[in-house]
Amino acid sequence: MNTEKLLEVTGLTRVYREGSIETSVLRGIDFSLNAHEMTAVIGASGSGKSTLLHILGTLDAPTAGQVLFRGQDLFRLPQSALAVFRNRHLGFVYQFHHLLADFSAFENVAMPLLIAGTPRDEINERVTALLERVGLRDRMHHRSSELSGGERQRVAIARAIVNKPDLLLADEPTGNLDHKSAGSVFDLLLELREEAGSAMMIVTHDRELASRFERVLTMRDGVIQ
Ligand code: ADP
Ligand code: MG
Repeated sequence: MNTEKLLEVTGLTRVYREGSIETSVLRGIDFSLNAHEMTAVIGASGSGKSTLLHILGTLDAPTAGQVLFRGQDLFRLPQSALAVFRNRHLGFVYQFHHLLADFSAFENVAMPLLIAGTPRDEINERVTALLERVGLRDRMHHRSSELSGGERQRVAIARAIVNKPDLLLADEPTGNLDHKSAGSVFDLLLELREEAGSAMMIVTHDRELASRFERVLTMRDGVIQ
């Protein structure tokens, strides 16, 4: 077993300010995650799950506290270094795919590799193989706006995993799908995660899905119980 520590989160807080009104959304989050480890995050709507994931994904910054990634304090990095870090080490799957509508499935999945400066032949090979893997061989050159909800989520998963991220973050990745396609998209996500060896943190409303994880963190009013 590899128990290398990947993520160490301490005293994480996030306060939103609007005029003179302050809302404490995260109120002191502490946990750690080992390399390759998986955990589900559950909790009532509004408990701060998305806020936590966005901070771990470096899409938002904490008001106080630390996120150490292999010992490195992420929020001490300059913005440019943080963008490189995100491209190399993180994958993110949102509830609403967040694909670029006017780009094809292929182009959406290729984007992280283009940003990383991967040679074009290798991009073609990897993206084609991955889109075949997620069952979209025949849809590869369709614009994402022409795809069904389940197909879009498959593309979003392929995009998140194409760089073999150390950490995969998924925020209710099947929350917007019907029961049947949610099940198959979820299975696909777990299979690809396994192959890539990424650690994963997944937010889900679905207790049945959460029960498939050894570790489940419950958020309540901005803290982990
Ligand atoms: P969850 O994902 O668990 O449903 P969120 O992290 O989305 O919860 O939100 C937690 C709380 O933070 C909610 O009360 C929400 O209204 C508030 N919140 C989220 N984003 C903002 C924002 N940009 N400004 C002010 N309040 C926010
Ligand atoms: Mg949320």
